[in-house]
Amino acid sequence: MATKAIQQMKVTDCPICIGGKWRASAGQRETLRNPATAEPIATVPYCTREEAVAAVDAAQAAFEGWRQVPAVERAQVFFRYRELLLKSAEEIARLTTLEHGKTLEESRASLGRGIEAVEFATSVPTLLMGDTAGDISRGVDTVTVRQPIGVCVGIPPFNFPAMVPMWMYPLAIACGNAFVLKPSERVPQTATRLIELLYEAGLPAGVCNVVHGTKEVVEALLEHPRVKAVSFVGSSPVARHIYETAGRRGKRVQAMGGAKNHLVVMPGCDLGAAVKAIVGAAYGCTGQRCLATSVVVAVGSVADALVEELKQAASQIAVGSGDSPKTGIGPVVNAAAKERIEKYIEQGEREGAKLVVDGRKARAHDGTEGYYVGATIFDQVRPEMGIAREEIFGPVLSVIRAKDLEEAVGVVNRSEYGNASSIFTGSGGEGREFAARVESGMVGVNIGVPAPSAFFPFAGWKGSFYGDLHALGRDAVQFYTETKVVTSRWPARAREHKITF
Ligand code: NAD
Repeated sequence: MATKAIQQMKVTDCPICIGGKWRASAGQRETLRNPATAEPIATVPYCTREEAVAAVDAAQAAFEGWRQVPAVERAQVFFRYRELLLKSAEEIARLTTLEHGKTLEESRASLGRGIEAVEFATSVPTLLMGDTAGDISRGVDTVTVRQPIGVCVGIPPFNFPAMVPMWMYPLAIACGNAFVLKPSERVPQTATRLIELLYEAGLPAGVCNVVHGTKEVVEALLEHPRVKAVSFVGSSPVARHIYETAGRRGKRVQAMGGAKNHLVVMPGCDLGAAVKAIVGAAYGCTGQRCLATSVVVAVGSVADALVEELKQAASQIAVGSGDSPKTGIGPVVNAAAKERIEKYIEQGEREGAKLVVDGRKARAHDGTEGYYVGATIFDQVRPEMGIAREEIFGPVLSVIRAKDLEEAVGVVNRSEYGNASSIFTGSGGEGREFAARVESGMVGVNIGVPAPSAFFPFAGWKGSFYGDLHALGRDAVQFYTETKVVTSRWPARAREHKITF
């Protein structure tokens, strides 16, 4: 299926959008394949430097008018946008499954989380309200106002083609900024469709621009002096590079990086609930999510029963194409990802971990020949092993055994990442202690995937995040605005004369 703009152009090619006009890029093309079948589905351009510059210039030109539109009117665009997204939800979910591979259920759910961010953006008139202090001196009042900062750039990863871009442009634009979105070059069609709908909702031309590509186009965007803020989500080495490069050039940056998330299982927890949550957290989205559980820390006596139940559950998950309702694990995004994940499984064996379930043997239940890796479990993993430390970004789960909560917290906190961690426990005290002590930005107690709602901030700690203000929530409102403090004197003469102290 091609996006509407692609159909209009009558070529299977991803268009760019500059100044509200959709057109073909002059850049080189890369072929995109359906991960479930390896068949070509579209081409994506790698935009030229001139196109990146034109996108920022168009955004800057549109910003001057858009910033003057009252916040309540800007919010109306997002109310209409929400309705259009809901109407087109099935079409968008199918496009996501086609280009990314995740199951239709996962595509629908992640679009739903993206729509939550749009709903948050509709609150912008309230979110932009400042503080007031009347009569801070005689006849003097002080107010804070939040103003947009200018052109903002969004650089999302491949793993949530709809949701992660929607962490970025809806709130940025609702706050009065103009935007340049550079979707992941691996899944550009979903984001392209999302921006088409944003224009259908009534966004003025040029307020949101779309360019495609990777390193080179990003460098051109980071070099442009009119770009004031950069929101990045992706792997940690690139996050750090973006943070340092854009920061050096005086831009505001939030750069969400990679992850290695732990889930601690305590004796005395509801083991059935823990197993169900672990299976969802480790294998949902084929392990390709920044909140995926990658390491289970089994504490004390719980370990043997836990590994046995996980083995049973993991062995039953059907691998196949994302549009089959029977599929539990869809393909990984491309051939390179499959190869990388399988190398990690080989590495785990070499490192001496016990391979309990081997996903390399998985075959699709529907006979498709895509980029498949099935659910994999390693037991007897030690914290120093590569499979326990490095982000695999696939359906590979490591089980580390620990003697008590103290040792488990130590395992979690020695990770160079700090995105999310969870505990399954029957004890309020253990849950509380865990939440207080772990060095993670998002924590779950008896929750497998502790993904906050859009009105809370979203980001990790340590090597999972470079910046100060997180995505979403009030942090993101601050990120996309500048605070101005206005102090005014309007002397009330008559009153001044009456005051004697
Ligand atoms: P990636 O770092 O390869 O790419 C992310 C984005 O950066 C893409 O748009 C890509 O085109 C661009 N890019 C790649 N290399 C670049 C370079 N050298 N210079 C400038 N731009 C470059 O990440 P990915 O493989 O698309 O996504 C998976 C990663 O994203 C995982 O590490 C995952 O944990 C992370 N992620 C993090 C979060 C979070 O909230 N922390 C959420 C989702 C995904």
